This record gives sequence, C-alpha cells and structure tokens, in this order.
Amino acid sequence: MPKVLIVGGAGYIGSHTSRHLAKQGYDCIVLDNLSCGHAAAVGNIPLEKADLLDMASLQAIFDKYDIDAVIHFAAFSLVGESVAQPGKYYRNNVCGTMNLLDTMLAHGVRKIVFSSTCATYGQPHYLPMDEKHPQAPINPYGQTKLTIEKMFADYARAYGLKYIALRYFNAAGAAADGCIGESHHPESHLIPLVLQAIAGKRENIKIFGKDYDTPDGTCLRDYIHVEDLAEAHRLALEKLDLFQGCLNLGTGIPTSVLEIIRAAENVSGKVCPTVIEGRRPGDPARLYADNRKAAEILGWQPQYTNIEEIVRTAWNWEMNRKF
Ligand code: UDP
Repeated sequence: MPKVLIVGGAGYIGSHTSRHLAKQGYDCIVLDNLSCGHAAAVGNIPLEKADLLDMASLQAIFDKYDIDAVIHFAAFSLVGESVAQPGKYYRNNVCGTMNLLDTMLAHGVRKIVFSSTCATYGQPHYLPMDEKHPQAPINPYGQTKLTIEKMFADYARAYGLKYIALRYFNAAGAAADGCIGESHHPESHLIPLVLQAIAGKRENIKIFGKDYDTPDGTCLRDYIHVEDLAEAHRLALEKLDLFQGCLNLGTGIPTSVLEIIRAAENVSGKVCPTVIEGRRPGDPARLYADNRKAAEILGWQPQYTNIEEIVRTAWNWEMNRKF
C-alpha cells in the first residue's frame, strides 16, 4: 500500500480521512503543527509535529519517510479572521502550501489531493453550482484557496504535479463509532453550535437572518458528512494518474438553518433555544453543489443523504466528546 503523508491530519476532516485510510490498509503519517488540530484525534497513526513554514522540518520529514502521495488539509479557515488578518492567511495557507509543493518535488513526490472549498466560488450565479461556475471569492480565506488551486495548475503544467482539489460544501457529522468528531476553538459552525445550545453548553443559537428569499426565510446549505469526504479523498488518491483538476463534494441537497435545528431537536429529543439575529455579512441565501463530476470521475456517492442521520453522528460525538 502507498505511504501517504496527511498534512493537517489532526484536524476535523484530516483526522477522519487519516483513520479511514489507515482502516483501509494505507500506510499513513500525519504532519500537523497542532495549532488547530488535536493529537488525540490522530490515534495510533505516527504524528510528526511540524509547521509548513519551517522548511528544514519539512525536508527532514520527507527525508525520513519514503512518501508516495500527500493529502493536504492544513489551513486557517475562519472567514471573519481572514478579513481582519489577511496576511496570516496568505502566509499560512499560500506560502505553507508552496513550501510543501517545493519539498515534495525536491523529493520526487508528485501526487497531492487538496482540501479546497466552495468558498472559491463566492456568490452563486446559478444553482446547483458545478465546477465551471465562475470563481470570485468574497473573502481572503476563499482567495487563498483559489490561489492555491491556480498554483497547482501551474505546477502541473511546469513540473508534472498530479493534483486533485476537492471543493467541499459544508462538512458535517462525526465518525459513526463516536471516537472522533468536530472540535474547533472557537466553534463557528452551525451544527455543533446548535447541539451545544441543546446540551446547555451555550445559552442559545443565533439564527443569522430569517428574511431570506427561501422557503422558511433561513439560509440553505449543502451539508456533507465527514466520512463521505474521507472516502472521496481515498478515491481521489487512486485517480491521480488519470485525472487532474477540481471536484465539488456535496450532497446536492439544500437544507435550511431551521431544518438543521429541527433535525437536532428530533435526534436529541430536546428543544433548542433560538434567537433571531440580523444577516451575517457575505452569507448567500443558497449554496449547494452539483456533485455529478465527482460521481463520474471518482465513482463517489455520498452515503449520508438524510440530514437527521448526519446530525445524529454529531450529537453522539457532542455527548461523548473526548477533546
Ligand atoms: N449560522 C447561523 N448561526 C450560527 C452559525 C451559522 O445561523 O451561529 C448559519 C449561517 O448563516 C449559514 C449556515 O448557518 O447560513 C451555515 O453556517 P456555517 O458557519 O456553519 O458554514 P458556512 O456556510 O458559513 O461555511
């Protein structure tokens, strides 16, 4: 089995992917600076604590292991913070990725699967969004991810890099066995915030806008289970010799904020305290994926298509979380 370096493998999507690959018999190594990730999420997989901005450490890791391919999740991803501190985002996300690519190429490693995002599209011009949708990010976070996608295309042409960038919609849920799940500090994502409000760990959930032009007035998003994302990374790894480019990962099913709250109430059997707030700047009313290209290229189909089942795994994690 190939030796895969999972950069950012202690984070939310990275740790689910590392465990998924390890279970399938891949030889995995996690590289993480543990600035956002959790060592406990890595389990028994070897963990190298290093920062992508530290070239010497990166080179030492590539010298130490005979790596065949890289999956790269490491990035700062808070939209608001990226507006306030764009330098932090360009340095970490863009310069860090450049260091990684240059070290890979210097060691003869040409294969990379990358964690991109629907934030590279910006405001939707049509729905569902396919990969040809114009890319015009509306914040520095999305801009850094788009810059990296472009860097991959240039490196592919010039140096023979083989890459697949996976543009996630809203990652959600937790491992079915409950051993790992979402744990951001601070938490900003809807589902964990709703579950924490239900569990009494927060006073309430603030609904950002109930006056959108949607069936119930709240925003529609495409929630994709983290284990479906993990499997898409495995499939992408296997396709790198045949395809290079970008693929959307979503269910294609729009779900509103109120539907998430209702699903969480059904799963937990408890009421969620809510407060209606104004709209959050930059939030489009609707965002959901056309996922047909990923289905065609990877042979991938999301297994979690029922929002209650997705929320149930997150609730199980919230009730038993270890970090
Ligand atoms: N949202 C909300 N209250 C919160 C956090 C999020 O109403 O405390 C809404 C947000 O406006 C968006 C949806 O929930 O419509 C998903 O937001 P999240 O931050 O989880 O992901 P995003 O879509 O921004 O990447």
